[in-house]
Amino acid sequence: MSGGPAGRSVGLLGGGVAGLALAALLGGQGHRVTVYERDELGGKLRRLPVGGATFDTGPSLFTFPAVWRAYLTRLGEVDPLDLRPLPGGLGVHHTPHGPVPLPVPPSHPLWPHWQRYVGAAAPLVPHLSTLLTTPPRLTDPAFVQASAALLRTTRGHLTAQGWLRAQGLPPALTHAVATHALNAGLSPQDAPALYALIPALVVTEVYRPAQGMGTLLDTLCRFAAARGALLREGAEVRAVRGAVLTLAGGEEARHDLLISALDPARLAALRGQLVRSPPARRTVSGVALYAELPQPAPLPATSVLPPHDFAVFRRFTRAGALPPSTLALVHAEGPRLSVLLAAPATGAALGTEHPWVQAQLRQVEAALGVPGLWRSARAVAALPPAHYAAGGHPGGALYGAALPPWRGGPLHPQPYRAAPGLWQVGTGVHPGGGLPAVLGGVLIVDTLLRARLQAGSA
Ligand SMILES: Cc1cc2nc3c(=O)[nH]c(=O)nc-3n(C[C@H](O)[C@H](O)[C@H](O)COP(=O)(O)OP(=O)(O)OC[C@H]3O[C@@H](n4cnc5c(N)ncnc54)[C@H](O)[C@@H]3O)c2cc1C
Repeated sequence: MSGGPAGRSVGLLGGGVAGLALAALLGGQGHRVTVYERDELGGKLRRLPVGGATFDTGPSLFTFPAVWRAYLTRLGEVDPLDLRPLPGGLGVHHTPHGPVPLPVPPSHPLWPHWQRYVGAAAPLVPHLSTLLTTPPRLTDPAFVQASAALLRTTRGHLTAQGWLRAQGLPPALTHAVATHALNAGLSPQDAPALYALIPALVVTEVYRPAQGMGTLLDTLCRFAAARGALLREGAEVRAVRGAVLTLAGGEEARHDLLISALDPARLAALRGQLVRSPPARRTVSGVALYAELPQPAPLPATSVLPPHDFAVFRRFTRAGALPPSTLALVHAEGPRLSVLLAAPATGAALGTEHPWVQAQLRQVEAALGVPGLWRSARAVAALPPAHYAAGGHPGGALYGAALPPWRGGPLHPQPYRAAPGLWQVGTGVHPGGGLPAVLGGVLIVDTLLRARLQAGSA
């Protein structure tokens, strides 16, 4: 590679949240950045017209805003998103043991247990953004302190289920909290213990931009473009050979530095390497269903229907089979209704009329007391595992590979630098990557890359 630490030519593969956020940071440091996006910018977050309504697909809950603020600070920007608390927080969880609102309000019989649960997670609260945004290096005192807090709080339990069992909480609260293991794309038996703490760590900090999640996409595109990044849509990378990219159509581009914001298996294939990934080694996929209703749904902003039995759910999804009962995450906003069903990562093209999808919708309607709601829709659309597989992880796994719990959390050093001059960012290297993990990962990679560029060894 040539030149000083600044002013490199950087090719960024993938224009999702991770690629765009990093493009802005690198552009701001004087690098000449080109983002290559095979489809539309935004990746999982995009705008989808359904009838007369427009939905923002992908992320619906903006949590751990401290990570977003840390990103803005590094970029030198003020927050344009106007984040608003989502009414009802994480929503009512309709468990087989009864409904549980999270956070649990003081008037609820589960309140004392909820307080005990929140208290058990409290030692981690001041360290969480450090864990999400700091490179995992044992030479960094802040990281060491945060890791120690994580180990103290999880008390040697590897999995979310193990930690929850040790708390001895009532079954309804345990079931509701265990649902959040699926933020790692895994059942509580497989997710790192940290994921059992999520409702306690989020507490009331569940937000959405006032004008919808799409404004996050607009904002990141604007930040990147304002710093000179060239954002190329419809530019699919077909091969990576050393520093040279080959695009669909045969165009070749050479850069000083390449950064992949793609799934690592996808990157490996572009480099001519063979990667096999059976369903048992993948996080779950989903069927995202969108409906434009003739009138506002009589539902709260967020409702959660966990699988009846996590062990059954795990057995089916790991075998690549459709579980009899799955996680359904329901969002209602005026006449817009969205339902996300967790599904095995098999790349299946499950549409709105598929018998399993219909059966799950009926279960949702029965649990929420709104029979016939879906059928009343003016227009509907579905994004199935096949959609997520097209530009994402094998089988459409929402959070990439299913790593064992001791590798899935923030303590595991991720493969940020795949080879000299080739770095990785995004969900695939930040297991359980929702927006906080993806944005935190962008800050981590930016920190590591700067140091390497200064040292002349990126
Ligand atoms: C239904 C759903 C609900 C979710 N809910 C939440 C939530 O409530 N809160 C939250 O924080 N997170 C949520 N998430 C997760 C969040 O959306 C993702 O973690 C985040 O959007 C991932 O960003 P990314 O940039 O890592 O990956 P992606 O968005 O997958 O971006 C990768 C990009 O690479 C492109 N690409 C692939 N191959 C190539 C190629 N060969 N050449 C060029 N480009 C290529 C793809 O087209 C894509 O645009 C949800 C996700 C889904 C799907």
